[in-house]
Amino acid sequence: MTLTPEQQAEIEEQRGTTRQTLRATSPGMEAHLYTAYPVLDHGLVRVIDYMGDDEAICQAARVSYGRGTKSVQNDEGLIRYLMRHWHSTPFEMCEIKLHVKLPVFVARQWIRHRTANVNEYSARYSILDREFYIPQPEHLAAQSVVNNQGRGEALSGEEADRVLRYLRDDAMRAYDHYEEMISDDGQQGLARELARMNLPANIYTQWYWKVDLHNLLHFLRLRADAHAQYEIRVYAEEICKIVADWVPFAYKAFEDYRMGGTTLSATALDCVRRTLKGEEITQENSGMSKGEWREFEGLMR
Ligand SMILES: Cc1cc2nc3c(=O)[nH]c(=O)nc-3n(C[C@H](O)[C@H](O)[C@H](O)COP(=O)(O)OP(=O)(O)OC[C@H]3O[C@@H](n4cnc5c(N)ncnc54)[C@H](O)[C@@H]3O)c2cc1C
Repeated sequence: MTLTPEQQAEIEEQRGTTRQTLRATSPGMEAHLYTAYPVLDHGLVRVIDYMGDDEAICQAARVSYGRGTKSVQNDEGLIRYLMRHWHSTPFEMCEIKLHVKLPVFVARQWIRHRTANVNEYSARYSILDREFYIPQPEHLAAQSVVNNQGRGEALSGEEADRVLRYLRDDAMRAYDHYEEMISDDGQQGLARELARMNLPANIYTQWYWKVDLHNLLHFLRLRADAHAQYEIRVYAEEICKIVADWVPFAYKAFEDYRMGGTTLSATALDCVRRTLKGEEITQENSGMSKGEWREFEGLMR
């Protein structure tokens, strides 16, 4: 992870200064605030600001459901009820603002999550750093033969060495040309907004990303999942640890109902009921397609 001296000084100053507030704070989140956690070879995630805690979720729910929530006195029980029944708006009362440094190809996946506010480093205005994501050898994997959108075994031997060499050399050559093109030493110098187009997608960018808890959990469910690409998953996993400390009840409910749980189609639910009654269910009598049956069997195993 490479932080500029200015960023390091800013973090130290922010963590060294305390202010009194009447606002609700989360002790778990206070411990993370401003700290930069390394991700991949040069990336980072750090919390810049946040709003709300588990109690804020309950407060909002109690305003909207009034007496309806009287039977659920306990905050954890109420949060579990809200998560179970997809009452999502109380979770929107909490917000988080992150500073993320990430390779451009990861940013392209991340930005598909449209329900956040983003401010990205401007490569029109500023010069990009010579920082490229180069995978560790164990993550330099072959194309998966069973999943077009995945990877298989790690490359080995001469092939692994050659691929790593290409990744490093191509990145360095592209950056040398970038520097040369923007230089105004003895020439006009190409505009930064044009010179950047020659840089590979493993170069790092940075942004501030602000999102509410409901949409963050949606992001985490998709991106901390085993089906997500490793390079975005490691960011999601780092954020999961922060969220677990920020809103422990909400995160526990999320792990239980969303990450660890599943939704069943009416047909699949009928198969569960028939199995419980002692009927032998196969793909042929299940009413499911082969793909659905494979996934259903995977769930029941
Ligand atoms: C494993 C994986 C593989 C993927 N593969 C591909 C791929 O091959 N190609 C590809 O293009 N994308 C791919 N994606 C991206 C995926 O299709 C979604 O675009 C991305 O995950 C963002 O999801 P979202 O739209 O639910 O999230 P957000 O944009 O954060 O939106 C959250 C929710 O808000 C609502 N919402 C937001 N905006 C609108 C809107 N304009 N209209 C209606 N409702 C809205 C929806 O309910 C949405 O679920 C992949 C994602 C994953 C996790």
